[in-house]
Amino acid sequence: MSAPGPVDFDDEWETRMERRLDETDADSDLGLEMAKDAQRVVAGEMSDAEFYEKYHEAVLEEFGADDRELPELEDLDAEALGDASDDGDGGLQESLASLVDGDASRREVMKKGGAAAALLSLGLGTGAGDDTAAAAGANGGDGEGTRWGMTINLNNCDGCLACMTACQQEHGLSRGANWMYVFTYEDENQGDENFLVRPCQHCTDSPCTKVCPVGARHTREEDGLVLTDYDICIGCRYCEVSCPYGVNYFQWGEPDVPDSEIDDDHQIDDRGRWVGARPPKGVMGKCTFCVDRQDGQMGEEKVGTTACEEACAMDAIHFGDLNDPESAPNQHLREYRDSQENDLETWKNRKEHTVSTFELMEERGTNPNVQYIGNEPSPHAEQVEGPVTYEDAGLVDNRKEEVLDNGAMANEEGWEEA
Ligand code: SF4
Ligand code: SF4
Ligand code: SF4
Repeated sequence: MSAPGPVDFDDEWETRMERRLDETDADSDLGLEMAKDAQRVVAGEMSDAEFYEKYHEAVLEEFGADDRELPELEDLDAEALGDASDDGDGGLQESLASLVDGDASRREVMKKGGAAAALLSLGLGTGAGDDTAAAAGANGGDGEGTRWGMTINLNNCDGCLACMTACQQEHGLSRGANWMYVFTYEDENQGDENFLVRPCQHCTDSPCTKVCPVGARHTREEDGLVLTDYDICIGCRYCEVSCPYGVNYFQWGEPDVPDSEIDDDHQIDDRGRWVGARPPKGVMGKCTFCVDRQDGQMGEEKVGTTACEEACAMDAIHFGDLNDPESAPNQHLREYRDSQENDLETWKNRKEHTVSTFELMEERGTNPNVQYIGNEPSPHAEQVEGPVTYEDAGLVDNRKEEVLDNGAMANEEGWEEA
């Protein structure tokens, strides 16, 4: 993996993100600064503790509590967290300070946080901070437990948009909320018609989970899924602007599909948290890697599958447990790699004798759990109309320019707009 480069943000991106944040009640400047610094954290330019401390006071002031992911406690500076008596949130700060000094357990501290206490009352037992810490271990390459992920073979994609339609139908998404997104693009060193298939990358090092002031956006301990707790989300959109891939969709109005048409089974996960199907009004949504399937709520035969994978007739999407060497994504990647030496016919679009695989914006340091086969779009890639239009597929694409500009199609040079 290439070393993360310094993170830079262009003015147009900032203006667009500011506009998005201005539409909420939350502090736009705070959201934008946190988004930038969260990306610096995952790129290795800032420590988790530094990030936490830098924004602790401001988050307390804006939201009345600070339920962001806790960094390693030994890295926290009790003094930097401020004097509890100054800001009226003595409970959490005082406890954090005493925890850093070794006087209290992490659990006691989390109990004093607003939403953290709510999470504990839901029976999680570990609290948001522990959830994240354990997930980092599960996804840190030790190969233990389950780590859901995908191999997407772009050479096989024909741009039919069946994956998008299947996702929309299965999760009851409102029109325009495209949790799965397929770009057709032209690029200087590639042919006329290339595709990028883009779900949430379920990053192991996810900026979006770092910025959430209430702990709604989190990584699930048991399998590394990055999910949003709809009961807790306050719609500040901080996660949306911190994500380098542009995969978040805010539910502005009443959802097209009412609650009465969605079973609880599709919404409540195996921890009892509302993280599945489309979000309610005022709440953030994004691809969940079909969490209800992974929890067995659609039948045991659907565990380890996704709606988009099932709908793809071209064998482009391969979902499974990345910690299992025999899972579909690992097998497909292995077959592709093994074919490199002798079989140039099977993989027509790849460069000869090149194992062409990549992670999207790998240099950002997000450690995505989606691996691609094929060619990565360059910063000069231009989105063009595909063989099947969104209209033809009964979909709406109201994010076209925005998603492109978000940098989701750009490679290592591509933080700047194409
Ligand atoms: S791709 Fe998904 S996990 Fe990664 S930062 Fe964006 S929303 Fe978070
Ligand atoms: S999940 Fe909700 S509360 Fe958390 S950052 Fe995103 S929009 Fe804000
Ligand atoms: S994994 Fe599931 S939620 Fe994600 S894009 Fe595919 S169908 Fe949609």
